[in-house]
Amino acid sequence: MTAIAVHGGAGDERPEERAPRRAGIIRAAETGWAVLARGGHALDAVIEAVAVLEDDPHFNAGVGSVLTREGIVEMDASVMAGDTLAAGAVATVRGVANPVRLARVVLDEGREVFLVGEPAVALARRHGLRVCPPEALVTEETRRRWLAREAASGNTVGAVARDAAGHLAAATSTGGVSGKRCGRIGDSAVIGAGTYADDARGAGSATGPGEAIIRLGLVRAALERIARGSPADVAARAALACLHRRLGADAGLILIDP
Ligand code: ASP
Repeated sequence: MTAIAVHGGAGDERPEERAPRRAGIIRAAETGWAVLARGGHALDAVIEAVAVLEDDPHFNAGVGSVLTREGIVEMDASVMAGDTLAAGAVATVRGVANPVRLARVVLDEGREVFLVGEPAVALARRHGLRVCPPEALVTEETRRRWLAREAASGNTVGAVARDAAGHLAAATSTGGVSGKRCGRIGDSAVIGAGTYADDARGAGSATGPGEAIIRLGLVRAALERIARGSPADVAARAALACLHRRLGADAGLILIDP
């Protein structure tokens, strides 16, 4: 069976934001689904789904990302393929329209798993990915909130999928948490914490307070529960409950089991 699940973060939401975000999530799921329907790989499906949300200003990823304390967009993203356990991650990248595609380049190159900062942006240029002035990813609404010191939380994006061949994949992308210090890296870039995929266990993408999610290794922790026999929904709830109990943090998680 082919399947895809997409999330747009688990944070506060104003009533007027709900409709455009819901529309974005549906568009992303349909885009990923189209890849699966023509026999594509789960990895391509999750990347295409996440790229749709990076291009949508209603989400905290790509254009629409929150700003650092210094007023800059710095983004994190990661991808993983469950058949090969190949993974790619980038962090603190500026001016790359689709960090999820850059994470894919890191995966495809296979030299490193994790690349940060300017060398990662240079890689994006070399591979012809869309690169822009960092300010081009800042929306008027994001700037307004930053100037008003309004806390913007959530709206990180992610996807998990299972393709017709039974392969799983996961992808996550974010601008991080608003007001973070430049150089801060969250769970969305950390394999095992915010993103993981293993055909034998499942695939997951998380959202919420990155520091707590990293400390627990949230997605890996949830997948271990699947490996011990829990259905995906039970495993997700149990891992989130554990995060709350151990670290007092509340997060969100999508999981798919084999
Ligand atoms: N997990 C993201 C981070 O800590 C933020 C979020 O999902 O809202 O960077």
